[in-house]
Amino acid sequence: MLSEKQKQDYELALIKAYKAMSDVINERAKQDEKWGEHNHYPPLWVGILGEEYGELCQAVNETVFDNGTDKGGYENMRKEAVQVAAVALAFIECLDKNKEEWEL
Ligand SMILES: [Mg+2]
Repeated sequence: MLSEKQKQDYELALIKAYKAMSDVINERAKQDEKWGEHNHYPPLWVGILGEEYGELCQAVNETVFDNGTDKGGYENMRKEAVQVAAVALAFIECLDKNKEEWEL
């Protein structure tokens, strides 16, 4: 049972995370619209997630090292971080959906 303070802290954390979570869910919907529903086995998800994580790393590197490209900066880092989270969310949904069939 949560204390009143814990409930307030939890609600505050939800409020703080709302914008980020909304963006992740919107990106998740865009990815479904673009690629359709995915039921990949975990090794494929790791590859997709790795690609997105690589793009996030690139956005961070281009921000830190300023190589004169347009791939760095706050907007690119945030966009790529949202895409990583959206793919991770899709992976979680896929695992949950296929848990029994794949005998995980
Ligand atoms: Mg990306």
